[in-house]
Amino acid sequence: MGVYRDLGVSPVINVLGTVTMVGGSRMDPRVLDAMSEAAGSFVNMRELHRNAGRTIAQLVSAEAACVTSGAAAGLAIAAAACMAHADPAKILQLPDTTGMPNEALVLKAHRILYDQAIRLAGAEFVEVGVTSFASLEQVEASITNRTALFLYAAEASSMRGSLPLRDLAVLLRHHGIPLVVDAAAELPPVSNLSAFLSDGADLVVFSGGKEIGGPQSSGLILGATQLIEDCNANCFPNYSIGRAMKTDKETIVGLVKAVELFVQRDYDAIFDRWEKIVDAVVSAVNGLPGCTARKGHPTEQGIQPKEIPRAYITADNLSGAELLDRLLRGEPSVVAGMEDSEIALNPQCMTETEVQPLIDALITALS
Ligand SMILES: *Cc1c(COP(=O)(O)O)cnc(C)c1O
Repeated sequence: MGVYRDLGVSPVINVLGTVTMVGGSRMDPRVLDAMSEAAGSFVNMRELHRNAGRTIAQLVSAEAACVTSGAAAGLAIAAAACMAHADPAKILQLPDTTGMPNEALVLKAHRILYDQAIRLAGAEFVEVGVTSFASLEQVEASITNRTALFLYAAEASSMRGSLPLRDLAVLLRHHGIPLVVDAAAELPPVSNLSAFLSDGADLVVFSGGKEIGGPQSSGLILGATQLIEDCNANCFPNYSIGRAMKTDKETIVGLVKAVELFVQRDYDAIFDRWEKIVDAVVSAVNGLPGCTARKGHPTEQGIQPKEIPRAYITADNLSGAELLDRLLRGEPSVVAGMEDSEIALNPQCMTETEVQPLIDALITALS
């Protein structure tokens, strides 16, 4: 890992998951090979962007797809598409939304840190309900001729103040309001690539650089042909809001390869591997005096993906925050998460060769 050491930073063991703050994901060598090959020649970027979208749509059985530089960029481009559509003058006018509907409806319980991307395109949020409650009647009463879209954060779907996506989809379709779903980190299961669209979403945004395993700065918008055409119009290589979020040829080719590998991946074997890593950590820690470890799944809202097992650790004489800090300052440094007062270890991004160093780091931190 000389390239990192040369820059004065140390590589870390990531037991947090596909989290951007530690680098997001690990690319398959076949993705890197495709990117290397792409770097070797020039190409018509408009053709490449369009054909890559078409290929990805076929791979994931969506009607159409638009490649972006991340899920957050996808949200901004989706919002621009819902306001300016393919009107050349309006596309250039954004983020000034004069003369266009510019309100993004969102349930209060669905406000997330990433939704600033919607405002980046010029949209303004209109919140519906309160943190603990919202109704379809309230949503309907909020729809006006200023409404441009409805944003749904998939990770908030089981909050008390949430509403079922399907019910919202029926209502919004009746009023002709596009339903945009932020599903950035909702993989696995692979079936989620189509589940939100089946439930009636018009546009669904995923990160390419999380579980899909593409370049960190890649993402996808999936949806029906007409709205995806509007996304393309508001996206690189066109002069538009999306021009400031451009995707390079290597990223586009890398994402296509990553999606191709992702849809073929044997998740039975992968879950088996994740279970084994968690079991190894749990049994090693339970052998230490004053330490307790258990296998479980996240119960806290917004922690994704919930399907992947975690190792939860507590120590009698050490708070969760202290343990987290010791792991972070260890050699090698381990970046873990915390839920309530327990340390949570997510095996999602781990390789087999990191298991023993992780266990050693835990033993050191806990002793
Ligand atoms: C990670 C994430 C994003 C941002 O994704 P990028 O691909 O890093 O831009 C947006 N929304 C949610 C819910 C996320 O988890």
